Amino acid sequence: MTTATGLLRDIFGFDAFRPGQEEIVQAVAAGENVLAIMPTGGGKSLCFQLPALMRDGVTVVISPLIALMRDQVRALRQAGVEAGALTSGNTDEETDAVWQALDEGRLKLLYIAPERLAAGSAMGMLRRIGVSLIAVDEAHCVSQWGHDFRPDYLRIGELRRALGVPLAAFTATADAETQEEIVTRLFDGQPPRAFLRGFDRPNIHLAFAAKNGPRQQILSFAAARKGQSGIVYCGTRAKTETLAQALSDAGHSACAYHGGMQAEDRRQVETRFAHEDGLIVVATVAFGMGVDKPDIRWVAHADLPKSIEGYYQEIGRAGRDGGPAETLTLFGPDDIRLRRSQIDEGLAPPERRMADHARLNALLGLAEALGCRRQTLLGYFGETATPCGNCDLCDKAPETFDGTQAVRKALSAILRTEEWFGAGHLIDILTGTTTDKIRERGHDRLPTFGVGRDFNRAQWQAIFRQMMGHDLIRPNPERHGALTMTDAALPILRDQQAITLRSDSLAKPDRRPAVRE
Ligand code: ADP
Ligand code: ZN
Repeated sequence: MTTATGLLRDIFGFDAFRPGQEEIVQAVAAGENVLAIMPTGGGKSLCFQLPALMRDGVTVVISPLIALMRDQVRALRQAGVEAGALTSGNTDEETDAVWQALDEGRLKLLYIAPERLAAGSAMGMLRRIGVSLIAVDEAHCVSQWGHDFRPDYLRIGELRRALGVPLAAFTATADAETQEEIVTRLFDGQPPRAFLRGFDRPNIHLAFAAKNGPRQQILSFAAARKGQSGIVYCGTRAKTETLAQALSDAGHSACAYHGGMQAEDRRQVETRFAHEDGLIVVATVAFGMGVDKPDIRWVAHADLPKSIEGYYQEIGRAGRDGGPAETLTLFGPDDIRLRRSQIDEGLAPPERRMADHARLNALLGLAEALGCRRQTLLGYFGETATPCGNCDLCDKAPETFDGTQAVRKALSAILRTEEWFGAGHLIDILTGTTTDKIRERGHDRLPTFGVGRDFNRAQWQAIFRQMMGHDLIRPNPERHGALTMTDAALPILRDQQAITLRSDSLAKPDRRPAVRE
């Protein structure tokens, strides 16, 4: 089944859409004329590459940046997509290969430089090859008043008319005047479906909390919203069942949903959720695609989502009606460890794994943020924003402290034991706790032994978690999760850089006895 989400995962290796992408992909795939304005780095190329795979025939991509075109073609081919470019930088063999793929009807995306359109033969060629969509990157280049003006872009309107196919135009920079020019020149003045930034969902309240008796945290969150429709996302199928049971026991109407259930049972949950008021669905990420209930009042994550894109998409299911909606995302060191090992142990090529780690870092940065969450979130997607007044950190600024010395002590404990131990043992060393393992290894004779008595166990756990969140340390998959230092920690270790940590999670010691590993 080649749904948009399936292709997103299988071809591009992403688990969720970024803000705006899904709507744009659907519109372009459906053959609408589209003008989309997205910030740089927001993920424009996917908005025409994915529809190109969903439609029959060839998608012609016009872009002024030859290096960028060649990059995209290389990446697409690596992912197994038939793509080619006709640019002045081509070798003869490359050009021949493109023609052959076109003749055999294999090519899905043909990138061409705008100057190619000037050649008389181009129009005839494009007419012959069965073009089904024209995608125009950097569409503002059609503006005669802008400094990126490309005279050849003026031929694109003609091309669209000649081929009679839909056109999707993309740009990061377009003021009202430029937009008008794009509509006039590329769409003959017929307004296309427009997607103009503004992917923020200001009615959704954002909040994160460190796990501290997570089941109780979810139960209290739900109790404060009794009778409202909500979704709880969990990391595992088993947890959806136990948490749904716990919510039912607490008097809520709740049911589980995951990919391991019979199709019929899943459909039944979907139908109930759509029609019933106040149902809580406790689900894995399998729940959501077909869900367009407008009045979902809250979304909670009982476990850390997979990526910042996943987070945005999942919380975005709340408050579609524009009314106030609330979210709560729980996270803990086990989540971080699990996500890191899922990436490390996956079969993806090294570059993709690095990108996945970076995306996880972005989410952890959001979880450990010191300022407005929305600013941090939108900033990641390339949009600027002022403090939102609708997140937990705008509600109440977190208390912080200079964590430099604490972090240096922890790093020192890691290095003196040669990166062979997990947080539990390291905390024994820091707090000067003599266990059998400490004695056996002679770790009570380390200079670091007992230097961290100013914090208790639970506090050290919060410090280690924040260090993981800042990607200063990572579990080593080859050493059963022993913690290793990353390059990002070097400047702190050398006392060249300070680090601010949150003290709110340090203030109250764990209610449960601190877990030892
Ligand atoms: P631009 O909007 O500047 O053209 P790109 O299309 O080059 O941006 O995308 C910017 C980066 O975002 C790329 O590295 C791309 O792989 C990544 N990206 C795009 N969409 C997603 C997604 N849904 N999830 C994760 N990463 C994405
Ligand atoms: Zn805020």
